[in-house]
Amino acid sequence: MAKTMCSHMRNMPHNIKKVTEIVKEPQFICKKCAHVSRKDKYLCKPIPII
Ligand SMILES: [Zn+2]
Repeated sequence: MAKTMCSHMRNMPHNIKKVTEIVKEPQFICKKCAHVSRKDKYLCKPIPII
């Protein structure tokens, strides 16, 4: 299974650069954890930001 944003967040600050890249221009938000991401695949419960 691909790593979600939520799992990336748990590994911070090791993945801070990667996380910054993912959240730079957020298009989706995780309904479960309220994390944001550019791609829905990084979130466990993604919903589009309108
Ligand atoms: Zn999540």
